[in-house]
Amino acid sequence: MADASNDDLIDYEDEEEVQTEAPTTAANGNGSLAAPTADGTDGKEAKKGSYVGVHSTGFKDFLLKPELLRAIVDCGFEHPSEVQQECIPQAILKQDVLCQAKSGMGKTAVFVLASLQQLDPTNSGSDPSVLVLCHTRELAFQIRNEFSRFSKYMPDTKIAVLYGGTPIKNDQDKLQKEKPQIIVGTPGRVLGLVRDKTLSLRNVKHFILDECDKMLAAIDMRRDVQEIFRSTPHSKQVMMFSATLDKEVRPVCKKFMHQPLEIFVDDETKLTLHGLIQHYVKLRENEKNRRLNQLLDSLDFNQVCIFVKSVQRANELNKLLNECAFPSTCIHSQMPQEERIKRYKSFKEFTQRIMVATDIFGRGIDIERVNIVINYDMPEGADAYLHRVGRAGRFGTKGLAITFVSSEDDSKVLEDVQGRFEVNITELPENIDHSTYMTS
Ligand code: ADP
Repeated sequence: MADASNDDLIDYEDEEEVQTEAPTTAANGNGSLAAPTADGTDGKEAKKGSYVGVHSTGFKDFLLKPELLRAIVDCGFEHPSEVQQECIPQAILKQDVLCQAKSGMGKTAVFVLASLQQLDPTNSGSDPSVLVLCHTRELAFQIRNEFSRFSKYMPDTKIAVLYGGTPIKNDQDKLQKEKPQIIVGTPGRVLGLVRDKTLSLRNVKHFILDECDKMLAAIDMRRDVQEIFRSTPHSKQVMMFSATLDKEVRPVCKKFMHQPLEIFVDDETKLTLHGLIQHYVKLRENEKNRRLNQLLDSLDFNQVCIFVKSVQRANELNKLLNECAFPSTCIHSQMPQEERIKRYKSFKEFTQRIMVATDIFGRGIDIERVNIVINYDMPEGADAYLHRVGRAGRFGTKGLAITFVSSEDDSKVLEDVQGRFEVNITELPENIDHSTYMTS
């Protein structure tokens, strides 16, 4: 067993590739990259109605606590999405839930509302009763914010977010002083705190895994999740969520559950998003920068996410973009934790328009103004592709995904994506009508 006093138990996101060649330098040859032609439209007006279920139930039909309903109204949610309609009524009855639904469909609100609904207000001051585990620190931070948003009118609710890369002492103090009822964290840090007995999970009533396929597919992460799971009481509600839940991982998930409600909102083959236009560009590796430059110059975007395959490439590409007058930021595992969260926040708050990221940003992250995703480097497989492009077109909004294909292997992944999800990814046309990917 690893040394429990270890400040930082493994954080899986750090598995991302650190050493690969940098992107080729020199962007366009003329060195004069113009600023993006984004139109500055505030994505807030985006129409979200298309993702409302056919038989439109209102949130009030779920018989939620009035303080939750008020918060829902404040968040601007008018109607529950299909996944919310399917899951919330059962989830608030403490049934186990295994749920798959497209990216950006509001899965987070399912478990946040279900947990808050069931939270016992007289229980404050005792050990935590809700535990949410997810695979990256930014996602943990984001989920914590969702809990805060929805518990706005439940003043006694205390939520703690726990992840690596920060001094464990801070977390130990926080747990002791604040006695949070809700914990959101990454498995490494949570396990560290369980092992050193600062965090007791003996009162946990709701155990939730977000991006559960990712959490359970890798052996080391699964081992930690299992150990955390074993520190919780036998009788509890277990809920798991992801956009992708292939047939192999489902039985693994179900081992943690008791007769779960299994909700697969979308047939696997139909998992790609309706409002998302998808294209590829065939090019050589050394043409990527020039092409990227042209795209940023000619496309309209509110915010854009550019995915690369390694930390070094993220740094280099970010540097290059900034040198070329495209003010961008980047995020990856090899930067101090405070810096990561700072950059995540500034992108979310729209102070930055261009984000260069590794796959740590590829799942779960919800930035509603992102309407373009560019795969500068091909993701490693079909699932990763689907998650990355799902960063655009959130909650039924429009979006555009462009993927660079520069090798045989890249072509194979693209074929895989098309075969598996029945999506038609076509070559990027000369001109692309901006109304197809910008919400007016
Ligand atoms: P998922 O976890 O399914 O990928 P999220 O939970 O991140 O999706 O939700 C995507 C976005 O949709 C978030 O910005 C969230 O606030 C918003 N959203 C969720 N449910 C609703 C709703 N019923 N009405 C309007 N917006 C919603």
